[in-house]
Amino acid sequence: MSKVVEVHPGIYEIFLPLPMRPTIINVYLIDCHGAWTLIDTGMNSPESMRTLEDGFGQVGIKIEDLDVLIATHHHIDHFGASGVIRRRSHAKTYVHPLEAERAGRMLMFGRMGPGERPESRAFFEMHGFPIEQYPAAGMRPMWMGTEMYSPVTEPDHAIKDGDVLKVGERTLEFIWTPGHSPGHNVVYLRKEKILIVGDHLLPKITPHVGIYPDNPDGNPLGDFINSQLKVQRYDVESVLPAHGGVYSDHRHRANQIIEHHRYREAEMLDLVKKRPKTAFEVAQEVFGGEERPIFHVMAATFETLAHLQLSCIEGRARKFERDNKVVFQTL
Ligand SMILES: [Zn+2]
Repeated sequence: MSKVVEVHPGIYEIFLPLPMRPTIINVYLIDCHGAWTLIDTGMNSPESMRTLEDGFGQVGIKIEDLDVLIATHHHIDHFGASGVIRRRSHAKTYVHPLEAERAGRMLMFGRMGPGERPESRAFFEMHGFPIEQYPAAGMRPMWMGTEMYSPVTEPDHAIKDGDVLKVGERTLEFIWTPGHSPGHNVVYLRKEKILIVGDHLLPKITPHVGIYPDNPDGNPLGDFINSQLKVQRYDVESVLPAHGGVYSDHRHRANQIIEHHRYREAEMLDLVKKRPKTAFEVAQEVFGGEERPIFHVMAATFETLAHLQLSCIEGRARKFERDNKVVFQTL
């Protein structure tokens, strides 16, 4: 039996299992009166699909009855089952074009890990990551290149910031919130004062924000902080997150998340005050250098890079090349 909670009249939260941490993703099924909308999908694993079907059953419908499918972003827990759900239901799929593009790229690379692609290798080495010490196979998540990631790569509609979608008697607004992912969107129900936030505004944890080889000059942390300020402009009574419980004070939580990153940034700037260091060196000091899965070491390096990049853009640090590596130093 899956767990389903009606968090607001006609809005159902369905808890789906994940084989990694966080161990649960919340997806939201909305009765739009005459039509049904699902926001995020879970992974395409047998357990998750069974739980989703059971959840729909408890609400009194089948997956085949779905009319609209919306994804906050392309990550496997949010979009992994979208291909299968669309095939079964013919639901119209809505996702930001940057996310559809990334989903396509993930499929294309399939079983190839980031350490196996030449342009990624150069990026790793440039930031001090000792890639030769790690087996390439450990650098990709275990689900990559499997059926569990079965995304829609050609959505029916490309989401744009501010788009308003009418489904049945409901009105859904898309708010573009880049940061955790470049095309991340949250969904706002203005009349109900509900904000469905995906990974953007989680109650207990902060989502990963990192610079990846596919966008080395981006400023994802700057985008993320701006997206936190952006959602504060909306009047919200209930925040529906993808992980963790439903909560209410989104402005307070957005401020906490901004503060957390500013604290991290200051901590990192302190470490590069006396001598310049690579992002990898800083990550080892901030996130710990002990034995950890390589996937985590990589994510920590990319997250550190996002912080240092923001410091450079805001004029608190500079970066330069030394011995073929990019190093950062406090100004
Ligand atoms: Zn995510």
